Amino acid sequence: TQRQLVERERLAALGELSAVLAHEVRNPLGAIFNALAALRRYQEPDSPGHLLVGIVSEEAHRLNRLVDDLLDFARPAQPQPQPIPLAHLLEEAVNAASPAQAHVRVEWALAPDVPPILVDERMMRQAFLNLALNAVQAMPQGGTLRVSARRRAEGPGATVEFTDTGPGIPPHLRARLFEPFFTTKATGTGLGLAIVQRNLDAHGGQISIDHPATGGTTFRLEIPSAPEPQGSRQG
Ligand code: ADP
Ligand code: MG
Repeated sequence: TQRQLVERERLAALGELSAVLAHEVRNPLGAIFNALAALRRYQEPDSPGHLLVGIVSEEAHRLNRLVDDLLDFARPAQPQPQPIPLAHLLEEAVNAASPAQAHVRVEWALAPDVPPILVDERMMRQAFLNLALNAVQAMPQGGTLRVSARRRAEGPGATVEFTDTGPGIPPHLRARLFEPFFTTKATGTGLGLAIVQRNLDAHGGQISIDHPATGGTTFRLEIPSAPEPQGSRQG
């Protein structure tokens, strides 16, 4: 449709812009990181200089994350499906979110009969990682992240859930979660869930969220086994 065409052009333009921006920002950032490493050696621990170097470093890392997320967000969503063992991919992504460092216990509930799914490995790993990161970040005092995977009830594919024991999401924010750049975190980019949504869309998949009365949050992904051909979806 006309709307999809406009949307695709908009994303293509955003992709080009992001690539240029990424290049123009990454080079100076590299120089900043090098200079910071050198500067650190001249500062006494606990000196004002040391503290300031820390602040510059933190903000530089934030910029770096923003560039990474922006590139991921703007990258054209053309899945290259391969048969992927789901458990392995989930473990990789969850480990990358460093739950142990945040005193988050991971509880696995992987059904033994989940068949390998046909998905774009990179896009799915990124979706899983973003959800695991959000869960870990929602539990700064520690907690439990429960990861479950099972056969999808309707059709081929898998249902994957990430459940945390964090504070939950206030009702007035729920409608905005997937908006690009919407964040409640001091150092968030607000692109995590937008990327999850985009990567799931590209696979003809679906995301839903549960807000149990007992607290915490569940993000549920319905992942069909093979991506639908581009442009075949209604809407
Ligand atoms: P970011 O993590 O950079 O803030 P996201 O798009 O990943 O961006 O998430 C957007 C917002 O959604 C977060 O800032 C947070 O307010 C909320 N959110 C996402 N996941 C959770 C969760 N598991 N528990 C509580 N809030 C969450
Ligand atoms: Mg996030």
